This record gives sequence, structure tokens and C-alpha cells, in this order.
Amino acid sequence: MNKEKFIITKAHPQGFCDGVVRAIKLTKDALMSKDAKRPIYILGSTVHNKEISKAFASLGLIKISHEDLINIKEGTVIISAHGVAPSVYETLKKNNVDIIDTTCKKVVALHDLIKEKINLGYTVIFMGKANHEETIGALGISDKVLLFDENIDYSKIDKAILVCQTTLCFSDVANKFSELKQKYPSLELSCEICDATRVRQSAALNASKTSDLVLVVGDKESNNANTLVKTIKNTNKECYLIEGVSDLKDINLNNIKNITITSAASTPKVIVNEVIDTLNNIDTADFKTKIELLDYIK
Ligand code: SF4
Repeated sequence: MNKEKFIITKAHPQGFCDGVVRAIKLTKDALMSKDAKRPIYILGSTVHNKEISKAFASLGLIKISHEDLINIKEGTVIISAHGVAPSVYETLKKNNVDIIDTTCKKVVALHDLIKEKINLGYTVIFMGKANHEETIGALGISDKVLLFDENIDYSKIDKAILVCQTTLCFSDVANKFSELKQKYPSLELSCEICDATRVRQSAALNASKTSDLVLVVGDKESNNANTLVKTIKNTNKECYLIEGVSDLKDINLNNIKNITITSAASTPKVIVNEVIDTLNNIDTADFKTKIELLDYIK
């Protein structure tokens, strides 16, 4: 390719948030501890990153689904940063299984808010990705929590409040709420997008202003990563989600000079560093990762 060097701008902040750092630390501590009861299970994914999940699996962590829960009668179950419904704790306690709870405090605050509103007689409309662990946990709090869809008739609901998943795109939630508010003036909003998500979105927007292309490094399953892409694309800027260096070869970098790099709250820094290193040496790149599995959770 013999390309001129790219000018690379890193959005700041980006990458691991406090909730993810805590979830990784608690999971690692459990796997290293002689005292934690075996087997050690994780309900869902520790965080949405395949490499992190593979690294923990190599240390003995066993992934289970909600359907498996009923059959887990020994050992330890780790609750992921995305949180779970109250019924999950009840099942685990009944089965005498130890619990390590890595639920992010922002998700705990969201659950507390939902419970408070339900006690005040509200129907809570949860805006979130269907089947995402955080959505499943929130919907499981009460049958008074409904998953948002375009066909809900708010005029039939006495008191309704819209709340959202912690990792949604801020402008999407704000736009949807103002659209609904025109039709249903009594609808309330409590936007629970966490600070880590908000600052990563505005940092990416700021850093992207002078760039030709934005690369979001993150897992395709990560809501956080996908909303970063959406946030950037909402400004009509060219933007791609890449999981690592191997995805770079599918992107046409001809005529590109300025690149902004950002990453999701669940993306290990080593992946971002390798992407930048590859872009800086694009002429000789083989687009194969050199990262060792355990480096993802260091
Ligand atoms: S993205 Fe927000 S809610 Fe999710 S783990 Fe990080 S701080 Fe917590």
C-alpha cells in the first residue's frame, strides 16, 4: 500500500469503565481464590467481550444461561455487571449456591429507581435492547415493567415513566422521548444512561470532528460499542465497529488521513493499542493479533 502515515486521534476517555474494572477484578479474584466454592459459574457474560470471556474460561469459569440456573446446586455463581432480576438471587439462595455479585452500581441504582416508581403506582417502560442481560434483569423486577415498543398506547396507562438501559445512545433516547411527549404530555422520563457511557459518547463526538473516519474498537455483542457507532453515524461521519486488528483489512483506508479511535467500556486496552500499532505500520501489517489470552484481563 505504501501509505502516508495516518494522523490518529484517541478519544478520551474511552475503554474500561469502573463497573467493568470491578467485574473483572471480582471474577479474577474468585478464580484465583482457594476459598471460592467450585465449580465457579458465570451467568451470561462477565462483560460483553469475547476475548475476556475466553480468558476467564481458560481459568475454569463456566458460562451458564438462565435456563441452567435451576440445576446449579453447588459451587459459586458470579452475577455479571449487567445485573439480574430478584428471582435469580432467590433461586440461588434456595439452591445453597454462593453468589459473587459484580452488578455495576449504576445498574443497582436503575433497579432501585424502577422499584421505587412501581411502589408509587407507575408502569415503567424500559427502553433497551431485547434479550440483553440488563434488559432481562430490569424486566424481571415486576410485570409492571414493559419493554418499550412503538405500539404502546400510553393513554391507557394511568402513570407511565420511560427509563432506559444504561448504555443507550443519549440522542436516541432524548429524541424518542420528545416525540412521545408531544402525543402523551403526562409521560415522564428518567434517563438512566450512565456517566461512563455519556462521557465516552461525547468524547468520541469531540475527537471525531476533524477526522475522515472513526473506528470504534469493541465486541459486536457490546451494546456500549454499538451505541458509540450509532452516536457517530448520527453525525453522518464514516464509522466502523472493529473487534481487533483482523477487521482492519476489510476497511478501505485509501484517501483516509485522519482517524479517530475510541473503544467500548468493555474493550481491553491491549486491543486498542494493537489496532493503533497496526495503523502506524500498515504497510507491513499481517492483521493477525499477537495478544496472549491472559493479557485481556490483566
Ligand atoms: S457501562 Fe455504565 S452501567 Fe455498564 S458497567 Fe460501565 S459504568 Fe456500569
